[in-house]
Amino acid sequence: MTVAGVSADRPQHRGDCPVSVLVVEDDVAITTQLVRGLNLAGYETSSVATGGDALSWPASDVVLLDLGLPDIDGVEVCRQLRARSDGAIIVITARGEETDRVLALDQGADDYIIKPFGLAELLARIRAVLRRSRPQDTELLRHGDLVVDLRTGKVTVAGREVSLTPSLGRTLVRPDEGPRRARRVTAQEARPA
Ligand code: CA
Repeated sequence: MTVAGVSADRPQHRGDCPVSVLVVEDDVAITTQLVRGLNLAGYETSSVATGGDALSWPASDVVLLDLGLPDIDGVEVCRQLRARSDGAIIVITARGEETDRVLALDQGADDYIIKPFGLAELLARIRAVLRRSRPQDTELLRHGDLVVDLRTGKVTVAGREVSLTPSLGRTLVRPDEGPRRARRVTAQEARPA
């Protein structure tokens, strides 16, 4: 991976939240370069070296997932990540691993990139999957752990989708009252979907 042509950038945000990127890669040299480049580009970057650690990590906006991991098959890691998060997944593969790329895409990966790759291309792919994954990000209403999607009505608390009573739904979204405001949802009002 090269860092040519990439300069320091402002922190990357979606709404008022920094964009989090998780690098899942067991090659220390590649991880070091990726984390440095992504931090330089303004992303809030973390890294883990195993599939097990990736699956126990809090949900991230973008996961860069190397398919060749020491503990769990990368395609299986991809499937489990997708099952619990709608964050973007970009798989990293070696040239010639077409079958794995196809399997990963079928299991929910949003894109792939083939080693060796340049940072500029990776950053472009990240921007592209972020645009595709949540194109109407400005319609997300946040208050602490509570996120309301004003387009779909989907509500999550700390990343978990909840269903609301009709009256609470009307309370949360009141477009006729000027600036949209959110209030805290109590345990009684929110229950797992
Ligand atoms: Ca690897």
